[in-house]
Amino acid sequence: MDFAVSEKMQTIIAMMDEFVEKELIPLEPEFMSKSAKNLLPVFEEKRKMVKQMELWAPNHPIEYGGMGLNLMEHALVSESLGRSPFGHYVFGCQAPDAGNIEILHLFGTDEQKEKYLRPLVEGKIRSCFSMTEVELPGSNPVLMDTTAVKDGGDYVINGQKWYTSSADGAAFAIVMVVTNPEADPYLRASMIIVPTDTPGFNLVRNIPVMGHAGEDYFSHAEILYQSCRVGQENLLGSEGHGFVIAQERLGPGRIHHCMRWIGICNRAFDLMCARARDRIISPGKTLATKQIIQSWIAECAAEIQAARLMVLHAAWMIENVGTKKARKEISLIKFMVANVMQNVVDRALQVHGGMGMTDDRILAFFYRHERAARIYDGADEVHKVSVARRILREYEGKQVR
Ligand SMILES: Cc1cc2nc3c(=O)[nH]c(=O)nc-3n(C[C@H](O)[C@H](O)[C@H](O)COP(=O)(O)OP(=O)(O)OC[C@H]3O[C@@H](n4cnc5c(N)ncnc54)[C@H](O)[C@@H]3O)c2cc1C
Repeated sequence: MDFAVSEKMQTIIAMMDEFVEKELIPLEPEFMSKSAKNLLPVFEEKRKMVKQMELWAPNHPIEYGGMGLNLMEHALVSESLGRSPFGHYVFGCQAPDAGNIEILHLFGTDEQKEKYLRPLVEGKIRSCFSMTEVELPGSNPVLMDTTAVKDGGDYVINGQKWYTSSADGAAFAIVMVVTNPEADPYLRASMIIVPTDTPGFNLVRNIPVMGHAGEDYFSHAEILYQSCRVGQENLLGSEGHGFVIAQERLGPGRIHHCMRWIGICNRAFDLMCARARDRIISPGKTLATKQIIQSWIAECAAEIQAARLMVLHAAWMIENVGTKKARKEISLIKFMVANVMQNVVDRALQVHGGMGMTDDRILAFFYRHERAARIYDGADEVHKVSVARRILREYEGKQVR
């Protein structure tokens, strides 16, 4: 095993770390106290700086203006940018656009690539991904009510979706719809590109999540598709292949998320250690002198290190043997890292006492917004059930002494 990081990547990560520290973290108090929309012009300025530094769109294809880093390299980038809630956004590699870029690159027609992929990678527009429905379980998306029915040269879409993240202000949605109701459950759905200014694309509301509806990129919308008509040329990939394409989107996407969460862990851990070092808890004694705090610090350090190596290994597996053969590793990291992050953020917040609950530190923001990590992209329980089944299959007929 080789744990070395190339010189190129060391340089890139050092530049990103410095940018996050100097240019982004200072914006956080304003981000938390005022509307996120107020900061959009500032984020634009930061994006220009990132482009000038040639660090834009690190994981996206070179021919569309990205840096073309591979998955292992981007994993390290994602860790660095994850320290701030808008690191990925400012560097042009934020979800859900990152996943949409991947599938447009893999499955889009030349026309779709010019119209949607190019401006998306360039950061001129944003997009969203609309699969989860209000009334049906997102954990079992073959149960889906939204339909697209062919009419002349068009598809006519009807249905209700929610948790379409970042739909507010997006130029288009990639929508998962039933196109082939009679087919095998996994071949019933397709992905269709729907520009958000299409009549019948109705953004009903930004859903309040943990007490905050958010806005623009930082929001999750409910969308009502009402006789929403788009040309059949907007079909992404083949008809009935929606779930096949979704699988492609999820493997690398989980690496990006998990390493972003490791970045959050690192930030929370730094804050925890600094607070323990500085907080005088009795005359001449800091919190850092208390064994229970020392124990948390040691446990968090071990958990973060274990989680980080697991993610890097899963990324290595995806690159070397492919997403299909790396399914076990991908499921393991998804629930493992989400829980490690929750634990680390919780302990860091606890060490800060009342200060941890305020927005004077980033911890309360992470605590609110990152709880969702255990739900989206497959809830903990779904991954645990699926990975346990996979492991148990390996024991069928196997002699164990
Ligand atoms: C912040 C956030 C952002 C999101 N962004 C998007 C997005 O951009 N686009 C999009 O389409 N969707 C998005 N989602 C939706 C997300 O994918 C779904 O919430 C998720 O798939 C779970 O579906 P559900 O909410 O319908 O819960 P359900 O499917 O109803 O599941 C509820 C709970 O049941 C349990 N459970 C489910 N299945 C099993 C099982 N087999 N065994 C044991 N227990 C089980 C789990 O504890 C699960 O949490 C987002 C969600 C959140 C919270």
